[in-house]
Amino acid sequence: MSTPLRKLQTRLSQERAMSVADFMDFALTDPDAGYYTTTQPLGTRGDFTTSPEISPLFGEIVAARIIHAWQELGCPSPFILMELGPGRGTLMADVLRVGRRVAGFSEAARVRLVEKSPVLRAAQNEALEPFTTPAWFETIEDALLDANLPLFLLANEFFDALPIRQFEMTSNDWRERGVALDDEGRLAWCHLPPTNIPMLPHADHGTIKEFSPGVHTHLHLIFGHLARFGGCAFICDYGYVQGWGDTLQGVKNHAYCDVLRHAGSCDISAHVDFGAMELIARTYPTLTHAFTTQGAFLKENHIDVRVQQLLTRAQDKEALLAGRNRLVDEDAMGKLFKVFFVQSPLMEPTP
Ligand code: SAH
Repeated sequence: MSTPLRKLQTRLSQERAMSVADFMDFALTDPDAGYYTTTQPLGTRGDFTTSPEISPLFGEIVAARIIHAWQELGCPSPFILMELGPGRGTLMADVLRVGRRVAGFSEAARVRLVEKSPVLRAAQNEALEPFTTPAWFETIEDALLDANLPLFLLANEFFDALPIRQFEMTSNDWRERGVALDDEGRLAWCHLPPTNIPMLPHADHGTIKEFSPGVHTHLHLIFGHLARFGGCAFICDYGYVQGWGDTLQGVKNHAYCDVLRHAGSCDISAHVDFGAMELIARTYPTLTHAFTTQGAFLKENHIDVRVQQLLTRAQDKEALLAGRNRLVDEDAMGKLFKVFFVQSPLMEPTP
C-alpha cells in the first residue's frame, strides 16, 4: 500500500472521519505524502497538461493583457507580480520574456510565488533563472504581508486545487460528506455528524452542493488588495456559473481515476464556482471584472494576429496551429475553461 494511503488509514483509525476538504488538503499538500508536494505532475510525462504547457501562445497573450493593464494603471513601479501555484514556472517565464520588451516592466516587477511543493519550486527556480530571482511563500497571506504595492496576479488552474466541502441532501436533511474507513479498512465515503452545516435551500434527495472556503478567503485577500493598492488579477480555471453537483475528480496518467484508491498519487480537483466569484467581486465596487471563456479571452486579446505573425517564420506550422486550436476550440479547452479578469481603477500614489 502507498505511503499516503497508509498515513490516511492511521489518521482515520484515530479520527474516525474527515471532511472532503481535509481529505483533499491531505491528499494534495501533506508535506511528505501529498500529490503536489512529492511529485512532478505536469506535462505529457506527468498526469495532466495545462494551457501554458500546451503552447507559449497562452502565456504571451496573458502577458500582453497584464502588461496592458499595467500601462493603463500608469506603469506603477515597483509592483508585485504574483503567481499562485505556478507549476513548472512556464506561464511566469512567458510573462517575463514578453515583459523584457516593454520599457520599465521587468525592472519594476517584484516576483512573488505562492507554492507549497518543494519539487515544483525547484522547477520554477530553473524556469525563471534567466529572468529573475523570485521570492516563494507557502500561503497567499504570507505573500501579501508587507506587500503594500500594486499587485498583478496570475492564477491558472490554482483555484481548482483548493479543498472543497461537499454537502449532500439525504432523505430529510443536508449532511456534510466525508471520508472514513469501511469494515475492511478501506477508504469510503461517509456522512459527518450533522454540525456546522450552512443554510442551503431544500433540494432533491442525493443533490450535492460544493463550497470552497479557501477560494473565498483567497478572493477576498486578492480583491481587497487590488481595491486598496491597485492592479489586476487574471484567474483561469475550469468551472461553472450556476449549478449543483459533485465535481470532485481524480486524474492520473491523463485519465480519470478513483480519488479514494489513488489519494496522494493522483491529481484531485473540483470545478470552480465562478458565480460565487462574481458575487464576491461585486462587493468591491471600485473594481471592474470581466468573465468569459478561455477561447473568447484569447481571441479578444488577438491570439490569431500572433499566430499569423509566428506562421511566417515557424518551423513547425502544424504544431503552432494545433496548440492554438487546443487552447481556443470549444470542443477542446476553449469553452470549459473560464477567465475571470479583475482590474482596479488608476490609484493615487500614497504620500
Ligand atoms: N499554474 C500551473 C500549475 C497548475 S497545477 C499551470 O497552469 O501549469 C496547481 C499548482 O498549484 C501546483 O503548482 C501546485 O503545487 C500548487 N498548489 C496546489 N495547492 C496549493 C496550495 N494549497 N497552496 C499553494 N500551492 C498549491
